[in-house]
Amino acid sequence: MTELDVSRCKLTKYPTPVLMAPTEPIKTIDGKICDLAERMIDIMIRSGGVGLAGPQAGVNLQIFVVSVNGTKENAKVYINPEIEVSGGLEGYEEGCLSLPGVYAKIKRHKKCTVTAMDLDGNQFTETGEGLLARAFQHEYDHLQGRMIKDRMGRVQQIAARRRLRELEEQYENK
Ligand SMILES: [Zn+2]
Repeated sequence: MTELDVSRCKLTKYPTPVLMAPTEPIKTIDGKICDLAERMIDIMIRSGGVGLAGPQAGVNLQIFVVSVNGTKENAKVYINPEIEVSGGLEGYEEGCLSLPGVYAKIKRHKKCTVTAMDLDGNQFTETGEGLLARAFQHEYDHLQGRMIKDRMGRVQQIAARRRLRELEEQYENK
C-alpha cells in the first residue's frame, strides 16, 4: 500500500472502496502500526463501537481492534488474525459503524478462536463466545471486504436497500 499517514485515518462509510476490497498482511509491526492501532481504538470508542477493522479506518491492512464493552481499557489489538469458528449458528441483531442506520439479524457461530499477533509481535490465541465471538467474525469479515449487508437474507436486503442508497448518495455528494 501507499505511505500510511495515520493522522489522516478516519471512519470510512459504505460505499468507500477500501471497505469492499481484500486486505494485505502487516509485514513489520513498527511505530506506525502502533500509532494506527491507537488511532483505530480512538475512532472505535468515539463512535461508540465495539470493534473496528483496518478498512474502516481507510487502511487495507489486516488489523482489527475489539472492546466488547466499548471502553479503552478493554480494547485489544489483533494483527494478521486468522479465525476458526465452532458451535452452532445464532442469529442476533448487528450494526456496523461503516453502515450507519443499517441493522439486521446476522447468523454467526457461537464460538470463535482467533490467532493473531499483538503490538509486540507476539502470537496469541483467544477463544470468544457470544458477543466476543460475534465481534471477531464481524471484524474478520471486514478484512475480506465483507460487510453485514453481504450476510443479510433477501428480505433484510430489501429492507436495507433504501438506507444503502442514501449512503451511496451521501458518498457521491461529498
Ligand atoms: Zn463493521
